[in-house]
This record gives sequence, structure tokens and C-alpha cells, in this order.
Amino acid sequence: MLKGKTALVTGSTSGIGLGIAKSLAAQGANIVLNGFGDVEGPKAEVARLGVKVGYHGADMGKPADIEAMMAYAASTFGQVDILVNNAGIQHVAKVEDFPPDRWDAVIAINLSSAFHATRLALPAMKKANWGRIINVASVHGLVASAEKVAYVAAKHGIVGMTKVVALETATSGVTCNAICPGWVLTPLVQKQVDAKAAANGWSNEEATRQLLGEKEPSMQFTTPEELGELAVFFCSPAANNVRGVAWNMDGGWAAQ
Ligand code: NAD
Repeated sequence: MLKGKTALVTGSTSGIGLGIAKSLAAQGANIVLNGFGDVEGPKAEVARLGVKVGYHGADMGKPADIEAMMAYAASTFGQVDILVNNAGIQHVAKVEDFPPDRWDAVIAINLSSAFHATRLALPAMKKANWGRIINVASVHGLVASAEKVAYVAAKHGIVGMTKVVALETATSGVTCNAICPGWVLTPLVQKQVDAKAAANGWSNEEATRQLLGEKEPSMQFTTPEELGELAVFFCSPAANNVRGVAWNMDGGWAAQ
């Protein structure tokens, strides 16, 4: 379905980003990966699906890096048809204890990076009259949790940005939507499970049960593969008129 298209997925060397990249690649899209840590493993996983794979190591907290990444994607693949703004970090602390440099980093990586990548991707998408911008927000873009002030602010912000971009592209073949996962067992969440286990003297299993039990009625993690399939749907012709939604896949979290 996506043969000949190019998808750039930020923060795609791990977790949800890698899952979405693989789902889009399975539909034939060439992929530009981004993120830190092991690069060769994720590149090989995507290449195995028979598409072209590029990589740019932009730090999504740095606008100049994002410009370089978008220029790399355009010069290597022609243009970015599908932009998935996914890179994100977390920091957990009460507001009065929240380190200002962590606030700045979370806002830069989880919110401002999506603005920069979007503003740079839009002109070519509008010219082609086809494009998909998918923002990986969170259920924390819809509801709040204590001790996540920067994350919740950034995720509510990206849901707002999704709506603005959807309105500005409403009469074109470009759409912009957000995905709002509940808990997904990635390194970002495993750190929170580990912190709970350490603070309460719990096993990993008990800490996981408690984490899910507090928020997620299904008591199940959403998987990167399931989120990838939602991204594929947003890219399909059936989703041509799905614009500005913030679609939760959260085991009933936001229904409470
Ligand atoms: P993860 O830690 O597994 O992956 C994060 C990715 O972002 C990695 O590839 C990492 O290298 C990259 N990254 C981090 N900082 C970066 C930077 N400055 N520049 C470039 N890349 C950077 O996390 P994940 O759980 O897969 O999270 C992905 C997205 O999904 C985030 O936006 C997160 O907020 C969101 N999300 C996650 C969950 C969850 O439960 N895991 C739930 C809702 C939303």
C-alpha cells in the first residue's frame, strides 16, 4: 500500500518508533530511522522487510539537528511523505522538585521537535498534495497523572498542535493525527516499573501489576505492533478524511 513512499520516524531505534517503522515498512514504505543507542540492529530489522533504510542521528532536542535530518531525508529519498513524530523522554518528580533543565528537555524533545519536523516537512507534502503526519502523543495528552508535569504539558501540547496542522491542511491530501497510547512495555516504561519495584521492595511482576492496575482497566500493555497498525490505517485511503483526531489505544484508561 505504501510502496514508493518514504516515512521518517523520529526516535525509532527502540520501542514504539521501531514498531511503527516496521509496520510502515511491511506496507512497502522506505524508512528513515532516527534515535540513539544501537542503530545497526534496528536498521537490519527494517531492511529485512525489503525496503530502503536510512538513518540520521539528529538530537531531537536541537532544531539545527532536525533541519539537517530533514535535509538528509529529502536528498537521500526525494521527500518525506509520512512523518511520525515519536521521539520522547520522561522525567518523574513533583512540580516543586522538577529540575528546570528536565522541563526544558522534555518540552524540546516531546513537543518542539514535532513542530520543527512538521514545519519542515509540510511544504513538500502540500506540493505533492499527499502526506501523513502522525504524532505519537499519549493518553497523557488527554488526561493527567501526578509527577509528570513536563510530559503531560508536552503531550497536551502536541494534541493541540495536531488539531492546528489538521485545520491548516484540511482541504488538501495531507492529514495530521495523533496516537495516544496507554502503557506500552518499552525501555521508557520499564524504568518506571523498576523505580516502583525499588521504592516498594516489589518484584518486577508485582510492580508491573501495580503499574497497570493504577490506570489501565484492561490490565494489558498495548504493543508497538498494535500502534504500528493504527499508523498504517492513518496512511490508508480509508483514513483520507480522518483529520485532527487524538486516538487513544489505552485499555480503557481515558474512559474512566
Ligand atoms: P523508548 O525509550 O523505547 O524510545 C524512545 C526513542 O526516542 C529511542 O529510539 C530513543 O533513542 C529516542 N530518543 C530519545 N531522546 C532522543 C533525542 N533527544 N533525539 C532523538 N531521539 C531520541 O520509548 P517509547 O516508549 O517507545 O516512547 C516513544 C514515544 O511514545 C514517546 O513520545 C513516548 O512519550 C510515547 N509514549 C510511550 C508510552 C509507553 O507506555 N511506552 C505511552 C504513551 C506514549
